[in-house]
Amino acid sequence: MTVMGRSSSQGPKVSFEFFPPKSEEAEAKLWSSIERLYPLAPDFVSVTYGAGGSTRDRTHRTVRRIVAETDMKPAAHLTCVSATCEEVDEVIRDYWDAGVRHIVALRGDPPEGLGERYQAYPGGYGNSADLTRGIKAIGDFEVSVGCYPEKHPDSADWDADLDMLKAKIDAGATRAITQFFFDPDVYFRYLERVRKAGIDIPIVPGVMLQPNFKGLKRMAQMCGAHIPDRIHAVYEGLDEDPDTRELVTAHLAAEMCETLNQGGADAFHFYTLNRAGLALSTCALLGVKSLQDVKAA
Ligand code: FAD
Repeated sequence: MTVMGRSSSQGPKVSFEFFPPKSEEAEAKLWSSIERLYPLAPDFVSVTYGAGGSTRDRTHRTVRRIVAETDMKPAAHLTCVSATCEEVDEVIRDYWDAGVRHIVALRGDPPEGLGERYQAYPGGYGNSADLTRGIKAIGDFEVSVGCYPEKHPDSADWDADLDMLKAKIDAGATRAITQFFFDPDVYFRYLERVRKAGIDIPIVPGVMLQPNFKGLKRMAQMCGAHIPDRIHAVYEGLDEDPDTRELVTAHLAAEMCETLNQGGADAFHFYTLNRAGLALSTCALLGVKSLQDVKAA
């Protein structure tokens, strides 16, 4: 099988994010998800990097396996946390040697926990703009970075937030993937700010596919994403009903993506949590077709 380019009539571009598995069972589940999502010909698939570099080896192993066993383009996440520049540079060189050509460059969060003040590791990269510069000095990687439609909690104001995004682009980033959000207007307002600031790289909506609403609320609180009352109301009374929560999550994700797509968004990055079902149903509703089906038609 070969992944081909997707034309606009086959739906928007999609990418899928996975986390490195901790056990053999989790690894089997991840690979089953990757196999199910493969026919959608993702633009790329990314693998996260655990807080403090805790998943360094597992991230690397997962990314290498994607390179070795599929023709999908992997993007390896990398952070600045708890490592010197030399240590991070070694990881970057290992990726280059393994044939990886795309890195998602991130600062990471304070190892002491969210809410604490971030402090650069002694001798380490200070933030994602510095890291992007370091990556580009080692190899001609494609570099994606994070961006924040509701402003990063550490940014004093919108000007500071957008200046940071500009610094990442000046350092060589060519795509920004958003933190997850729940209201399409949040994205549209952000896009307007970004374009007014003269930033013209793709701002790809990051779409969270988390049917565990309690978990979702925790994640949202930690990263400053606002969950509208309407969504709280939809999940109310479903704590003990995972099947219905799954359906509700699929519906809400598809509804938001459809509005974003109608408003001009032509690429989506799905936080899959290593599960294929919700990503597949959202893509089906968005008109993202399996390229095998397109060929057969
Ligand atoms: P940066 O943009 O480098 O900095 C964040 C903010 O800090 C800036 O907006 C600015 O307000 C402030 N700041 C930074 N440097 C300076 C400076 N020199 N002067 C003044 N202000 C400064 N985390 C992980 O641990 N692993 C992952 O795999 C991972 N994947 C992610 C993927 C995406 C798409 C996104 C959006 C986030 C991801 N995260 C991940 C979370 C990310 O690490 C956190 O959001 C982190 O708090 C910020 O990372 P950043 O790269 O956006 O930081």
